[in-house]
Amino acid sequence: TLQLAGRLALVTGGGSGIGRAVCTILAREGAKVAVVDIKKSSAQETVLSLSQSSQHESFETNVSSSSEVTKLLQQVEEKFKTAPSIAIHAAGITKDNFLLKLDEQSFDDVINVNLKGTFLINQAVGRAMQKARIENGSIVNISSIVGKNGNVGQANYAASKAGVIGLTKTAAKELSRYNIRVNAVLPGFIITPMTETVPDHVMQMIKAMIPLQRFGQPEEVAEVCAFLASPRSSYITGQAIEVTGGLNF
Ligand code: NAD
Repeated sequence: TLQLAGRLALVTGGGSGIGRAVCTILAREGAKVAVVDIKKSSAQETVLSLSQSSQHESFETNVSSSSEVTKLLQQVEEKFKTAPSIAIHAAGITKDNFLLKLDEQSFDDVINVNLKGTFLINQAVGRAMQKARIENGSIVNISSIVGKNGNVGQANYAASKAGVIGLTKTAAKELSRYNIRVNAVLPGFIITPMTETVPDHVMQMIKAMIPLQRFGQPEEVAEVCAFLASPRSSYITGQAIEVTGGLNF
């Protein structure tokens, strides 16, 4: 097993896609899950879908708001009577346009949710773990292969996800003294609501570049997150792990 029974996991973006798949696997492995999303109804829906749903709880939080993130950690500790020992940070958005057309608001929005949100969640969770002297803490931040390689139409998104890698590697160095590991997962092209709007001809073009010749499923990313959450990955920290079917465009 992944040795997660009885542990508390906080999962942001838990109302959809990759975050929801993470909640499913962690719950199946016996963890209690704090399902966090800006959409309350989506987080509630996830909780209801989980095995032993009464063990879990949904929380409505905008991860780009420091006051909401502070309140979230308080509410989670109140509800579960412990700090989380696992955090999977999957909340994220896209607002795509070509660099020459990208407006300032779309840049700010994506940086605020994807990068500042990662800072706020890592800081709040790190503080809570340190204060509670949690053993074997693990934080997993969802970046993207786009953060490493760039992508046409995604200057804001690529910049935010590159930032997530830098933040992850720094957090890993600083939090190691508290026995907290911090890693990033870089998904390739995964079938979720986020990728639903991509036009068909673009889908075909991307697929042709993937060595495994297919898109990924959210569960295939979630499995890697669950491994990194588990003490079975006890000697891995500060890493950026690609889950892309080999895509490295
Ligand atoms: P998704 O849109 O299905 O899920 C994202 C969830 O985050 C949604 O439920 C949304 O409500 C929530 N969210 C958005 N803004 C939020 C905020 N400010 N506060 C709290 N919650 C918020 O997308 P997904 O594909 O499951 O993406 C999950 C993560 O994986 C994201 O960080 C995304 O950038 C990353 N990613 C996805 C892909 C892909 O191909 N799908 C590839 C690489 C990286």
